[in-house]
Amino acid sequence: MRWYNRHVTQPTDTSIASQDYLEQIFQLIALKGYARSVDIAANLGVSQASVSAMLKRLGADGLVVYEKYRGVILTDKGSDLAQHIIKRHEVLTRLLRHFGVDEETIYRDVEGMEHHISSQSLKAFTLLANELDQNESLRESLLKKITKPQV
Ligand code: ZN
Repeated sequence: MRWYNRHVTQPTDTSIASQDYLEQIFQLIALKGYARSVDIAANLGVSQASVSAMLKRLGADGLVVYEKYRGVILTDKGSDLAQHIIKRHEVLTRLLRHFGVDEETIYRDVEGMEHHISSQSLKAFTLLANELDQNESLRESLLKKITKPQV
């Protein structure tokens, strides 16, 4: 899966922001083995002071543990939540790719949608994405319709 370096969203709601942080921390750990606040700040396009404040918050919620020299570590609870967030991102991305949407648009849209989708709707999209993975004729027929819209 391809990840873009910068988040284009400017979250105002803190729970949305905390999801972006967890997603980012999980990715950094998967990629590098550790998550430093300087990398989190760079990837999310926020200040290091914002990162410190959010890490305190996530720590208080029992989602991360901050170690001065190792950086940020996800607790089991934090890791479960991060994996759920990433899986949700992955399903929405996979679904939109079937319709030939370009990667940058997909990323931008998914970053917006993922925070607002209910688990019920996510289940529906997951079924659709899985169906499209397996059903080539459906995929081709939808793609034809989207590239040559019928009037
Ligand atoms: Zn995301």
